[in-house]
Amino acid sequence: MSRKNLFGLTLAELEEELAPLPKFRAKQIAAHIYKHGIKNFDAMNDLPKNLRAELATRFEIKAAELLKRLDSRDGLTTKFLLGLADGAAVEVVLMRHDYGNGVCISSQVGCQMGCKFCASTLRGLERNLTAAEMLGEIFFAEEFLRGEGKKLDSVVVMGTGEPLMNFDALIKMLRLLHEDYCLGMSFRKITISTCGIVPAIKKLRDEKIPVTLSISLHAPDDKLRSALMPINSAFGLKSLLAAGDDYAQATGRRVTYEYILLGGVNDTEEHARRLTKILSGQLANVNLIPFNPVDERNFSPPTNGALKKFFHFLNTHGLGAKILA
Ligand code: SF4
Repeated sequence: MSRKNLFGLTLAELEEELAPLPKFRAKQIAAHIYKHGIKNFDAMNDLPKNLRAELATRFEIKAAELLKRLDSRDGLTTKFLLGLADGAAVEVVLMRHDYGNGVCISSQVGCQMGCKFCASTLRGLERNLTAAEMLGEIFFAEEFLRGEGKKLDSVVVMGTGEPLMNFDALIKMLRLLHEDYCLGMSFRKITISTCGIVPAIKKLRDEKIPVTLSISLHAPDDKLRSALMPINSAFGLKSLLAAGDDYAQATGRRVTYEYILLGGVNDTEEHARRLTKILSGQLANVNLIPFNPVDERNFSPPTNGALKKFFHFLNTHGLGAKILA
């Protein structure tokens, strides 16, 4: 008989699952799973021995498992390929900075959004990740960092997938991550990235959890943006920027606009000028990301000169910008 996985359950769900055991047992087990990273009931030494044995026959505690690891040359970034229970795999990226350590997680297996510069969408969407699977990605990174004597400071949901197309699981995972009995992570340390699903941005605002919103913009006008990102034909720039502004006003959180620079496509001074214009007056900053060539996509990175000029233009025209290498 297959055993039910307890990893990723909320305290209320654990209480229900473990009934008729008293509620304090659920609290003890939640602490073992989330605070101490214990995956084996036998190691839960504040539970009676016979209860540990009984739990092990009915339940398991299983998160993602490592398939592959790749370290950057400077040792600051590590990519993991993690295997899920059904054989699917997701990519997780750990970033070590002097101002803190962050993890970038995936929200779906594949993606249906069809952005023209992205390899993750080539095979479409395979499936949504569950809240437990997304939490498993974060716990993997957290445990890995703990092994290095470091701690996890922030989470970015910006890997494969469009998180707002997996809304309910995303919100469940965020609320669980924030609970004291789990990692107790402040919402302010969490960033959700979207390609621009306007109604879902409004829904996220209404959840009243002040996570940072990051909007993938990549073009300063509708014509170019629709050519690069099919979502723009459904929700154009005007409604997207209004939703971003509304989110910033409601949460008091500055919205980050991501802008991948594609050589000869969206990287001229004229593009920078238009970008400054459409974001003027917004509580916003911009991350400039030079395109990282992939075999399947026919774009090139910007030249160094174009990157520097673009960056300089934004910063001298009142728009805070950073270059993300
Ligand atoms: S939404 Fe993100 S993962 Fe999906 S196609 Fe666009 S860039 Fe790729």
